[in-house]
Amino acid sequence: MKVNYSFFYLTLISIVISSCAIKRQVVPFKTTQIDRDAIKIELQQKQVFAFKDQGVFFSNDFPSARINQLEKENDSTYSIVIKSENRPINPSPWFAFKVWGTPHKNVYINLKYPEDKHRYEPKITTNYVDWKNVANVKLSADKKQANFKVQLLTDTLIIAAQEIISAAQSYQWMDKFAAEKSLNKQIIGYSIGGKPIIALNTTKSDGKKIIVVLSRQHPPEVSGYMAMVEFVETLTGNTEEARNFLKNYELVIIPMINPDGVDEGNWRHSFAGVDLNRDWTDFKQPETRAVKEYLLNMVKQQNAKVYFALDFHSTYSDVLYTNEDRNDTNKPGLVNNWVKGLHDFEGSKKTEVKPSGNGGNVSKAWLGRVLNAEALTYEVGDNTPRPYLKQKAKKVAEVLMAELK
Ligand SMILES: [Zn+2]
Repeated sequence: MKVNYSFFYLTLISIVISSCAIKRQVVPFKTTQIDRDAIKIELQQKQVFAFKDQGVFFSNDFPSARINQLEKENDSTYSIVIKSENRPINPSPWFAFKVWGTPHKNVYINLKYPEDKHRYEPKITTNYVDWKNVANVKLSADKKQANFKVQLLTDTLIIAAQEIISAAQSYQWMDKFAAEKSLNKQIIGYSIGGKPIIALNTTKSDGKKIIVVLSRQHPPEVSGYMAMVEFVETLTGNTEEARNFLKNYELVIIPMINPDGVDEGNWRHSFAGVDLNRDWTDFKQPETRAVKEYLLNMVKQQNAKVYFALDFHSTYSDVLYTNEDRNDTNKPGLVNNWVKGLHDFEGSKKTEVKPSGNGGNVSKAWLGRVLNAEALTYEVGDNTPRPYLKQKAKKVAEVLMAELK
């Protein structure tokens, strides 16, 4: 298992590097041992692809990167092959890489998907913060290739399927958010790759009424993660509504359920090659089991009820997946009224609502079936404009607070 050992050492090196780089009070959570036998996907060879004669360099040696193969077609044209971590898989062909070299040189990039079709509009940044869409991306007729040009800068360019938010970036946000809002923060389990699964919870209520927020079971679903951040920031905001809300309800947030998949640049799965949001009946995976046991223990110990639960995801367009059976929940009518509040805000362009059975193996079904929560999957479109997805997430938080007054 040569690949797995090299991954282990790479992880050790990256931990050392990241602990040198971060000098603030933020201490990265300790990772634990990697369960190498449980890794069932092909890990990438993280490396620098150097074309010294042409003055062009690429890298997939950073969290969330994905290049499966890279070939020089000619002095200025390079093909990047993108494959999934394992199969079968829902098609979310994630890619991310760095490119640098002779400033002002034009480089032509062919993204190639041997078994899939191009989905995400390539985005570019030099600082992980200011992203914009790559201009003039041309697709082949079968959509198995996407071609575009970039002009190299003196700074390294980062090109990715969506904005990159790695596990480490998410842990840093959790540290800052928990400190600012005086939240409890605890490690509730570990991923197969030894990364912590973290829960944040508010402490100003008696803990009898709980709201659950989940996110990032699926690595590329960054627009859903962005909405999650805005949603919980609003529920913990410096407003009278939020202060009253948190006196009555405990907010529990588990922002990063698949840190291994996120950092490996996976399309969808965990290190086990499993879609975690299809594991909510069997709970065979450490990541989903950690969430389940934490929530069940909390409900039991606090003699609490979960009123509302949202799991944030992304797909082709904004949509809400609700549970069909909502008669015996802890707060009947809440999802109906909340959707109505959202639709009133949206005017003529109303978010589609798709109910499905409570018996399924996805989180919202388990949250409804076992915890009797009003629960749903909150899907944000891949291309939903970022300012609008934030505005909408803020609004749904405000509607929730108004409904639970
Ligand atoms: Zn998803």
